[in-house]
Amino acid sequence: MRKLALSDEILLSIQQPARYIGGEVNMVVKDHSKVRTRFAFAFPDVYDIGMSHLGIQILYSMFNSREDVCCERVYSPWVDLDPIMREKKIPLFTLESQKPVKDFDFLGITLQYEMCYTNVLQILDLSQIPLHACDRCENDPIVIGGGPCAYNPEPLADFFDLFYIGEGETVYFDLIDRYQENKAAGGSRKDFLEMAAEIPGIYVPSFYDPEYNEDGTLKSFTPNNSHAKEKIRKQVVADMDSVGYIEKPLVPYIKVTQDRVVLEIQRGCIRGCRFCQAGNVYRPLREHSLEYLKHYAYDMLKSTGHEEISLSSLSSSDYTYLEGLVNFLIDEFKGKGVNISLPSLRIDAFSLDVMSKVQDIKKSSLTFAPEAGSQRLRDVINKGLTEEVILKGASEAFQAGWNRVKLYFMLGQPTETVEDMEGIALLSEKIAEAYYDIPKDQRNGKVQVVASSSFFVPKPFTPFQWARMCTKEEFLERANIVRGK
Ligand code: SF4
Repeated sequence: MRKLALSDEILLSIQQPARYIGGEVNMVVKDHSKVRTRFAFAFPDVYDIGMSHLGIQILYSMFNSREDVCCERVYSPWVDLDPIMREKKIPLFTLESQKPVKDFDFLGITLQYEMCYTNVLQILDLSQIPLHACDRCENDPIVIGGGPCAYNPEPLADFFDLFYIGEGETVYFDLIDRYQENKAAGGSRKDFLEMAAEIPGIYVPSFYDPEYNEDGTLKSFTPNNSHAKEKIRKQVVADMDSVGYIEKPLVPYIKVTQDRVVLEIQRGCIRGCRFCQAGNVYRPLREHSLEYLKHYAYDMLKSTGHEEISLSSLSSSDYTYLEGLVNFLIDEFKGKGVNISLPSLRIDAFSLDVMSKVQDIKKSSLTFAPEAGSQRLRDVINKGLTEEVILKGASEAFQAGWNRVKLYFMLGQPTETVEDMEGIALLSEKIAEAYYDIPKDQRNGKVQVVASSSFFVPKPFTPFQWARMCTKEEFLERANIVRGK
């Protein structure tokens, strides 16, 4: 039996002890003495959020498919456990073996959003690994950053030994091979970093000297090591069917944010919304074949017992084989009590038809993401969604029996005016009115329109990357304008 890193006394004194004990269905435990490379994979947020992340499950499966590698998970301890670990000097540990992260060969940290950057430091600190890469010694793990925020690595460059720029499936095996090669040859940490620097997509910050302009923008970026490339190019999976997916997803014992099987149908997005980081960095669009998805849908449902399968992509309506896939899922699984969820669909007649087949109309709501209240601003952000299309989609949905609509907007986008903000309320009102245009005997009770808004944050590698971000006061003022309308 595995010995837990935390005592019963500690586990019983904190919220959700299941966050720290591992043992989930489909967890992979390997004997460390029988593998050549130990990889700790961290999601720098609490377990409940990290366990819902698709990328970590894909890479966990991929790493553990190699007999000579063991990959184990680690998440940010919640605020109740953090001070206890510090006080009792308990080093941060992985869920599988419950062994200290500092004893692994690699610590990979996925960087999904900037808000988790302080959690990255918490993970390093609790692991008792020096925060700065330059202070690490031969026995410390190699700390790697990846994920969408690694495309703009400089803010975190001092804390990482290397970053991979691109999709994890492309470079990791090569990196591990070189690590093993270097270790077998008795090479040093620096020798390995030099070997790694030659792999496409790998960026070793200590091998470059950046110079900054007065305003903080980058002036120059010069390699200081002969192994370092002039330019680092993102690596993407060219043929999505050539890489494996998750055969046995981890099934948590506690409720997590996404508690279902997730089937990634494609990567990338053909739209070009100017604020959107995902739409820009995951280019180009690449699809899985229908046969590939059928195989993994079967395997994942069988190995988990989940009662819901969700099709994941940035814009599902653009997937070429959507109709065939949905019909397959309905035929195979609907009668077996498996729900099918279809996020990120554009609302049109086809989508409504598909959704009415797989969802309980009375319970589900429709989602539109106009992102801006006026057509002028939707054109500025290149949203490609007109008021006419929104109202037509809503009207068709109401006629088909839906009566709940969710609308997502973003405040503070470049060139936004009071009219654009007021447009949020006006568009919501027009949608509600469209409901009452249909005959009373065809309505399904009262209509409910929920409009919510987030705040615009300029993201690297988007056309709006240099746009100004509002201050907290400006954001709150804009929210008040929308609320007051
Ligand atoms: S907002 Fe959605 S549709 Fe637009 S580019 Fe991003 S992922 Fe694509």
